[in-house]
Amino acid sequence: FQWEEIGEVDENYAPIHTYQVCRVMEQNQNNWLHTNWILTEGAQRVFIELKFTLRDCNSLPGGVGTCKETFNIDGTGMTEEEDRAMKESRYIKIDTIAADESFTELDLGDRVMKLNTEVRDLGPLTRKGFYLAFQDLGACIALVSVRVFYKRCPFLVKSLAEFPDTIPGSEASQLVEVVGRCVNNSLPLYEPPRMHCSTEGEWLVPIGKCVCQPGFEEINGSCQGERVNVLICSPSTLRSLACSKCPPHSVARQMGATACSCEDGYFKLDSDPSNMACPPSAPRNAISNVNETSVFLEWSIPMDTGGRKDVRYNVICRQVLPDGRGLEECGPNVRFLPRRTGLSNTSVMVADLQSHTNYSFLLEAVNGVSDLAKGHAKQYVSLNVTTNQAAPSPVSVVRKGHTGKSSIALSWAEPDRPNGIILEYEIKYFEKVKIFSQSCVPLSTALGPVRARTSAGYGAFSRRFEFQTSPYLKFPGVRTYIDPLTYEDPNQAVHEFAQEIDVSYISIERIIGAGEFGEVCSGPLRLPGKREIQVAIKTLKAGYTEQQRRDFLWEASIMGQFNHPNIIRLEGVVTKSKPVMIITEYMENGSLDTFLKKNDGQFTVIQLVGMLRGIASGMRYLSDMGYVHRDLAARNILVNSNLVCKVSDFGLSRVLEDDPEAAYTTRGGKIPIRWTAPEAIAYRKFTSASDVWSYGIVMWEVMSYGERPYWEMSNQDVIKAVEESYRLPGPMDCPEALYHLMMDCWQRERSNRPKFDEIVCLLDKFIRNPSSLKKLVNSSHRDLRRVGVNLAGHQKKIITSIQEMRVHMNSTNSTVNI
Ligand code: AMP
Repeated sequence: FQWEEIGEVDENYAPIHTYQVCRVMEQNQNNWLHTNWILTEGAQRVFIELKFTLRDCNSLPGGVGTCKETFNIDGTGMTEEEDRAMKESRYIKIDTIAADESFTELDLGDRVMKLNTEVRDLGPLTRKGFYLAFQDLGACIALVSVRVFYKRCPFLVKSLAEFPDTIPGSEASQLVEVVGRCVNNSLPLYEPPRMHCSTEGEWLVPIGKCVCQPGFEEINGSCQGERVNVLICSPSTLRSLACSKCPPHSVARQMGATACSCEDGYFKLDSDPSNMACPPSAPRNAISNVNETSVFLEWSIPMDTGGRKDVRYNVICRQVLPDGRGLEECGPNVRFLPRRTGLSNTSVMVADLQSHTNYSFLLEAVNGVSDLAKGHAKQYVSLNVTTNQAAPSPVSVVRKGHTGKSSIALSWAEPDRPNGIILEYEIKYFEKVKIFSQSCVPLSTALGPVRARTSAGYGAFSRRFEFQTSPYLKFPGVRTYIDPLTYEDPNQAVHEFAQEIDVSYISIERIIGAGEFGEVCSGPLRLPGKREIQVAIKTLKAGYTEQQRRDFLWEASIMGQFNHPNIIRLEGVVTKSKPVMIITEYMENGSLDTFLKKNDGQFTVIQLVGMLRGIASGMRYLSDMGYVHRDLAARNILVNSNLVCKVSDFGLSRVLEDDPEAAYTTRGGKIPIRWTAPEAIAYRKFTSASDVWSYGIVMWEVMSYGERPYWEMSNQDVIKAVEESYRLPGPMDCPEALYHLMMDCWQRERSNRPKFDEIVCLLDKFIRNPSSLKKLVNSSHRDLRRVGVNLAGHQKKIITSIQEMRVHMNSTNSTVNI
């Protein structure tokens, strides 16, 4: 009652209604302003917003002793609705309100209202309504507005669940849990969805969700399904809501279907998955490319494969009959490459069509359900093609005429269908230079097809044919060895074949052996512009005669003509200074016989065969060049650090003079009896075939790790034994195949001995197929070992050799005095 109701205008001169009280000059003020009964509408907590002005006590003239700068806000809420008696004592104080900004007389004069806004909340409210009151205890207040409100969480659709408009709880931080309702055509996933309504009217902490039922898809917060082009969501995909449209030519028959069925005229298999449909559409972009009487057809995969991976293509070939008589299926002679039906690639070659003829091709796309769809869907595209002039048909018969060592005469008949005038024939041929038959005989073979050409182009090639030239013995293109004797001046021969090396490029570091003419040393050779290499340096000792110098350099004149990985390489000679030197590549492991003795039993059979192969290859080269070595023996083979064996020790008379193994024969001349073929011993018939004999002895040396051939037998006895058909027995643990080869090399009739060519070929075969070396000769050795006969290796071999000799003698029916 003490508050006055005053009409005023605000700063915009709009009328406003205020309640004011300003009894600052009087003692003991207690002025109340009550509201009407305010309905809670279910809210348990309400907010009260006050807008007011408050006078600054200091700005009041005169005594300010009782002036206050606050007022109280009070509320009921616990009273019954009908308890309208406005007993102040029933009110509970909500808060004391102070102004953030008070105003002065001056402010009033300016009519500037310094409006304060304060918000307080009231709760929990247990009744349907409440009163508010404003209690002034002696301040100067103008209450401009009082707004009472509560907050609520508005209706919400989230995760396909509807949450109703919700009034928050009464406590300030309380959350009200609300269970949502799944929208139409949706179901809760695992648990009902929930949300929480905060006192601030916000939805918080969503839990769970709804998902569309099978056959429906979520669109803008609702689940929608269509009858045609429905979205199928199988129950298994519920979780991820993976729906997909029905594949082309299929529909869902009812709202919310979980499978699509084919449109009329389209089919699928019962076993096909629900999202697979119906036959493919036709291939697209079909093009043809005519080449004479062949057509290359190419196309793109159909626009619609029917959702299947089993699309294949068939070609239907029809010939267009002249004068509009229609179409006729192509005959059986037409070829389709790779095939006519079931093509997985999008191209095909159609060959052997008739020339100058129109064809119509249908390209049909089919899949696993196409048969069901017969007569319904169109799955093909057609192409019309006209062939060109035809090339001649292939040459069918090719005959061989006269053959020489390097020529073959061929003849053939004109093609059955020349389709024009034949301008020329083309023959392709390849040379199979070395074809080894079972027995390793080298043959030269020509093979090739023939084809005819007319103005329409080339016909097809004939079948391949293969003809052999006569066997030849000598490899073409290999230089022949020039005997240094053909040079009048031996020095000229040396400089023809050997490079002169300045001695300053050579450093002698070690002595590695002794030769007939002087020491053999080793050291680095540093030729300008070349990589430093280790070399062997053979020196000619001081005080030599002119003849000795010539003999010494003779070897270089020979060696210098060779260039092969299994022939010791000559680096050069030093003749301009003394001592005279021959420089060759350095062979770390020295001579083969010593090397093998040092490493008895250390190598695999394949390693030994590898060494033999190298020696045979070097010897093949020498024999191809027409050079006969005459002193092939393991002691004249050098071995490098990679176990590569190289033939060395060249010379003519010198070699044999030099060789301690060489002995004078009854006919004069020195010959290394144990290594030499009988005809060479008997009448000096030295040939590559006699080198082959020696090679057989080297094989024996290698396989027995440097054993001396014929052991301690005297040269005379060796000659005699060999004459009487005695041959060395197979070395211990020697593969039978290798022993057979040795025995072949020791054929009395030299033309029956293998050529080095064949030897290389055979050894290569063994290396490629090591199992051919499994079977060993002389199992008696193992028997001896097994019964524990304790003999030194040497003795054992002698005993074995006697046994072997007996066997041999029996088989040849001749006798020998051992
Ligand atoms: P020669 O009289 O030419 O056979 O040489 C005597 C010895 O010197 C041979 O038995 C080998 O031990 C060694 N010898 C010769 N030439 C070489 C070389 N190029 N590399 C390594 N050692 C060699």
